[in-house]
Amino acid sequence: MSRDVKQAYKNGTRSMDGKPGKNYWQNHGRYAITITAMPPGRTVKGTETITYINNSPDTLRSPSIKLFLNIHKPGAPREFGATPDYLTPGVHVDECKVNGQTIQVRSDQFVFTNLPVKLPKPLLPHDSVQFSFDWHYEISLRSGREGMIDSTTYFLAYFYPRVAVYDDYNGWDRMPFMESHEFYSDFNDYDVTINVPKNYIVVGTGTLQHPENLLQPTFLKRYNESFTSDQTIQIVTKQDWQAKNITTQNAVNSWRFSSVNVPDVAFGISDHFNWDGCSVVVDDATRRRAGAFAAYNDTAADYHHVAQYARHSLDWLSHHWPGIPYPYEKTTVFQGYAGMEYPMMANDESYEDTTFSRFVAEHEIAHTYMPFYMGINETRYGFMDEGWATTFEILIGRADLGVEKAEETYKQFRVEGWINDPSPGEDVPIVGPGDNRIGQALGDNEYGKASLGYLAMKDLLGDELFKKCLHEYMNRWHGKHPLPWDFFFTFNDVAKKNLNWFWSNWFFSHNYIDLAIKSTTRLGNDYSVTIENIGGMAAPVNIIANYSDGTKESFHQTPVIWQSNQGKATVKISSKKKVESISLDGGIFMDADTTNNTWKEKAF
Ligand SMILES: [Zn+2]
Repeated sequence: MSRDVKQAYKNGTRSMDGKPGKNYWQNHGRYAITITAMPPGRTVKGTETITYINNSPDTLRSPSIKLFLNIHKPGAPREFGATPDYLTPGVHVDECKVNGQTIQVRSDQFVFTNLPVKLPKPLLPHDSVQFSFDWHYEISLRSGREGMIDSTTYFLAYFYPRVAVYDDYNGWDRMPFMESHEFYSDFNDYDVTINVPKNYIVVGTGTLQHPENLLQPTFLKRYNESFTSDQTIQIVTKQDWQAKNITTQNAVNSWRFSSVNVPDVAFGISDHFNWDGCSVVVDDATRRRAGAFAAYNDTAADYHHVAQYARHSLDWLSHHWPGIPYPYEKTTVFQGYAGMEYPMMANDESYEDTTFSRFVAEHEIAHTYMPFYMGINETRYGFMDEGWATTFEILIGRADLGVEKAEETYKQFRVEGWINDPSPGEDVPIVGPGDNRIGQALGDNEYGKASLGYLAMKDLLGDELFKKCLHEYMNRWHGKHPLPWDFFFTFNDVAKKNLNWFWSNWFFSHNYIDLAIKSTTRLGNDYSVTIENIGGMAAPVNIIANYSDGTKESFHQTPVIWQSNQGKATVKISSKKKVESISLDGGIFMDADTTNNTWKEKAF
């Protein structure tokens, strides 16, 4: 446990049984935002007021305001190179007020994604402060997580000045936004108005207010119907756009969305995208339905199915894994150039292979639970977010595609890159801190390795107990900011087992997976197989007995075989037939060196 986290447990903001501590607190903001985007003009103008509530016991003097889109500013630190069409002048703060009083903020060339603001008067514990910002920026021509999709289709994300998180273990989050460390946000309330020209639709986070003032009756009817329809309703089609009478015919329409207790908002606007919608019951107890929408260019063949892929994701995630009803009103998958999640929104590429389109939609929608519902600090502990999305991805994949195909995909995308690469960045401890990592040291430790860790624990505890632990963790921490230790301690607490040997082995070590058969001894039909754990990781493994008649039998071993001795385990198997050889097969728990995985009976 790092020193800052130790201190949080000492202060009682967190508790060693895995529950939020009796002194737990988090800060909160109420955002009223108005954004004006008038394509093909690239300037986006914004004005907002933020009521920021200090629930901490600390007096705050110098908050950090996140200006994420300064990542487009020349010279900004970023993980990847920037092409000329990615660069913009960045975010111009036209005015900043604190409690109604205009204050000067820095605008020099060294201000990037964190704007330090000195409060004229300190913000006392349990008091609030009001910030007002007027700002503008040019939307980036090159679109990734956000930006221009085409000259009249914009994806607006990371677009508003946001108060950085002030938390109980790290204080102000002043980490620069450089791309893949995607989210760490307070749970805020958002009232967002997006001004666009007539005949533009706006989709995104939150409940659309008064759609009857925005959509012509035909389209309003279809929009409303989608919330009760299993089948996809084509709300707006390519043909519909030709009449140029989709929306109310004001010069400018104001699309207003409200959402409560969400960590972020994102929106897509377009004057020619198809808009599909359908819905599904996500909560059987209350019969609550959630909407699944897609917005896309008519030429994207796969996207004609995406509303149903999204619907299937909501259904499966709500009913199987994690098996918690989808917590929002709807989701929308918007065609762009990323594979990127936002609350109630995904920005996904179009693919030729619809199986892959569905795979990406499922992954991004799975993020609803982590990092959004659970308030994960993805910037520092991204494995608590991507590791779970990757885990839900294979679990839903097994249901969609069958075990074999899903595991093949998982190995190819999530495991091979790590296990076949002997460089030291791959084998750093999963726990991080991720804020000091980039490249493979970040990616593989957050996605594949972490996911395998969760799946190994699932194997160890069995599905029922694992789900009980997961649900209790989610129940204790949703809407809050859990740390890795809150997760580990909750599992220990609910499983009534000290699983620290496992957490330590998987998440705090330089281990990797390499098992070897050291020796095998036979007594009658019983074989005693001694497995050496060369890589050190407490991975589950199948011991395969290959029989002389060409058949084989698999003896599954959960990670419990490593509990008492993580270097060596002896396992007894009873064969029914004549054994020719014995081999180890980890399945998705791929072995870095398979040359030592087989023992052969000597020929007599
Ligand atoms: Zn992801």
